[in-house]
This record gives sequence, C-alpha cells and structure tokens, in this order.
Amino acid sequence: MRAKTNMAARAFALLRHNKLHYSLTTTSRRMTSSNVAPASRLEGIDKNVWIEFTTLASQHNAVNLGQGFPDFSPPNYVKEVLSKVVVSGDQMMNQYTRGFGHPRLVENISKLFGPLLGVDVDPYKEVLVTVGAYGSLFCSIMAFVQPGDEVIIIEPFFDCYQPMVKLAGGTPRFIPLRATSSGGSSRDWKLDPDELKLMFNDKTKAIVLNTPNNPLGKVYSRDELTMIAELCIEHDCLCISDEVYEWLLYEGCTHTRIGSLPGMWERTITIGSAGKTFSVTGWKIGWSIGPSNLMKHLHTVSQNSIYNCPTPIQEAVAQGLEHEMSRFGTEDCYFKSLPRELEVKRDHLASILREVGMEPILPQGGYFILADASKLKVDLSDSAGSGENYDYRLVKWITRNKQVATIPNSAFYSDEHKDIAEKYIRFCFCKKDETIDKMEKIFKEWAKTM
Ligand code: PMP
Ligand code: GLN
Repeated sequence: MRAKTNMAARAFALLRHNKLHYSLTTTSRRMTSSNVAPASRLEGIDKNVWIEFTTLASQHNAVNLGQGFPDFSPPNYVKEVLSKVVVSGDQMMNQYTRGFGHPRLVENISKLFGPLLGVDVDPYKEVLVTVGAYGSLFCSIMAFVQPGDEVIIIEPFFDCYQPMVKLAGGTPRFIPLRATSSGGSSRDWKLDPDELKLMFNDKTKAIVLNTPNNPLGKVYSRDELTMIAELCIEHDCLCISDEVYEWLLYEGCTHTRIGSLPGMWERTITIGSAGKTFSVTGWKIGWSIGPSNLMKHLHTVSQNSIYNCPTPIQEAVAQGLEHEMSRFGTEDCYFKSLPRELEVKRDHLASILREVGMEPILPQGGYFILADASKLKVDLSDSAGSGENYDYRLVKWITRNKQVATIPNSAFYSDEHKDIAEKYIRFCFCKKDETIDKMEKIFKEWAKTM
C-alpha cells in the first residue's frame, strides 16, 4: 500500500514538473478502451512461439538452446566492416539507398548466386533485398497468394509460413514428412510421393520448400527435389524456396537449389539470409532471387510497404559476400568453416541428449536438433488440463524447473498433425561450447534423479 502511494506521489510530482498536458492525455488514454475491431485476417494468428518462449527463457534466466541465434561472435572482419562503413565511410552510407536493394549488395548477390542457380541473374530486376528472410517470404506470399488459392506447406515448417498465407487470404494445405526406417537421421524423413501428388490441384498456387529444414535439419536430395519440381511444372505453380541454412551442411551433404533444376528457374523464388550466412541474425537482411517477370511483383509489395532496408548494413553484407567470394571453395571461407565448427557441436549435443534418455534425430543441415523426449520421467499433471500439447507442457516445465530453454516441435506443425510432432522438442546448437556445457551439467544432474 505504502509502495503504491509513493509511486503515485512520484508520478504526480513528475506530472507537475513535466508536460502536464501530455501526461494527462497519456493517463486518460490508459483509463478507457475502444471497441475498434481488428481486421478479420488476424483471426487465429495472434499467438507466436518465439514471443512466448523467448519471454519464458528470459524470465527464468535459462540456458538458451531455444531461439535460433548464435551466441558466439560473427567473424571479426564482418563487424569491422560495418563499423568502418558507418564511422569512416562515405556519408551517403548513412542515407537512403536504392529501394529494391543497395547496388553493391544486389550486384554481389547476382555474382554469387547466378552461377549456383545456373543463370545470369540481373541484379536490378531479379533480386530484392528485404528485412531478413521474413521480408522475402512476406513479399513472395503477398505478391502471389489471394483468396481461393491453396499453398502447400511441408511439415515440419518454419512457423511463419502458415500465418503469412492466411494474411494473404490463401488456404494452407499441409503434408508431413514421415519417418521411414528408424527416423534417427533427418535423411529418414521423407515425403510420400503419392500423398504429395494428391495435394496438387487447380487451386494450388505455390509450394513452400525449406532446405536445409528448420527444425528437422533435412537436406532434400536432388531426386526428392526433382519429384517436387515435376509437380510444380505439371501444375504451373510457384515454388517459394527458403534456403537460409544453405551453407550449414554436415557429413559431406550437398545443397541442391531447386531453382537450378530444369524448368524451375522460371517458377522459383530463392530466399537467403545474411543473418544465417554471417551469424548476424540481428542485422535482419535477407534477399529473394527469381526471374524478372515474377520478381517485379515482389518489388511492388516491397515498394509499397517497407520501401528500403538500412544502407550501412547492406553495404557491410555486400563487402562480406565479396570477401567470401574471394576465398570461395577454400577451407577458410566462412561458408565452410562455420559448418565445420557446428558439426562438432551437433555431435556433442546429440551425445548429451542420448545420455540423458532422449533420442535425437541427427540433422544433415541447419543448426537445430529435434529429440524424442517422450521417455523423460516428468510429472506434468499440473498442466494436464491446459489443453496444450505434451511438448509445449514439457518445454515450459524444463524452462521453469531446470532453467534450460528449448522449443516445442508442434509449433512447426498444423493442428491436424500435432500428434506426429508432440513427442519431440527442438534444441539449437549454434551456441558457445560453454553454453552447451552448462546445459550438459544440468541435464546430467537431472538424469541421476530420474
Ligand atoms: N526461414 C527459416 C527457415 C528460418 O529459420 C528463419 C529464422 N531466422 C527465417 C526464415 C527468417 O530469417 P531472418 O532472420 O533472416 O528473417
Ligand atoms: N529462425 C530462428 C529459429 O527458428 C528464429 C526465429 C524467430 O526468432 N522468429 O529459432
């Protein structure tokens, strides 16, 4: 009571001292509420797994193996380039740049990805720079999907695909990867070709593909991509290919870009992320690449929404790509040295998970591991009536009681297939050894009590 009175007194003193009018307006705003209804397109998309679980992790000061961001430093030269651009660069580096992408960046994207996609990419007509890969996904979906259209989404899928399709008025149609044999490697998780064929019809506008996949780590083989490509061509539909983990490949796996397959450049938007490429997720620069007749529609969405992305960050990413192109294919190239380091972390984390009674699905790419946690002996009776899936309840329990944050796998599935998802939880391994060691200690102590 006394604390409240003190707070009120302090607030009042502030009010008198400062801008009385402004503060009063603010206060009265808090005391009333309007009945302005949100657009119906927001219905059912208000929950967000990252907001919920990142908040929970910080509330419990948990060892964070949840959200996918490296807690180690990006390469020093990448940081230095950005600081030089801002401090000692041309003053125009602090002003607006070209709307669809800073010239030096789009030119380097075209130089790097043209040969990988097997086409000459026009940097000014066939590239769009966006706010992260999120921005590219949004522009692609908004540019093409409208009410009446169906979009095929393969499960598990990066969670934003579903709400973006809904925002555009489209209907998501889900098809799960299914475990063949033991399911102990992401390689064992496959699409059933007959089931996939049945998903395509005359309403199908697009399919969203993600290779290497988040959260499973599956890297699609050329044969699997060819099967998908043939269906896209037969049904004249678009392929939105999210390839943000394109460099993070293990066990000699190779990344095939579906846009490079015969007949696919014409119908594919290939999406990348500087955040994943250079371990700078906070820089939020992404890009889309595709033929000009498709890209002009992404340009339209972009010019009427975000307009342009931060100039100094685009300049720094451009210089980063230039540097990596100059040593492309060598062991020093960050596109090779990063996965080499991550593979060791992957194997370390997988062995910890096995030791404490979980069964990991070993990923071929990306920086996440799904682990079957259904055999953990945890009393979840407190949350039994919550209506939440097992993995949601388990992840919350572990975060609160063991201070280790992870992500529930059913966040990456539609309601119709949550049953396939809910025994798995996702761990992120792009973390310092020290972070993984802390998690190891906690889990090993816990295992002794189970
Ligand atoms: N796609 C996938 C598969 C992702 O995991 C992420 C998460 N970063 C994104 C897109 C979004 O990337 P960005 O941070 O560049 O917006
Ligand atoms: N892509 C990252 C992940 O999967 C982060 C996503 C986000 O924070 N929205 O963890």
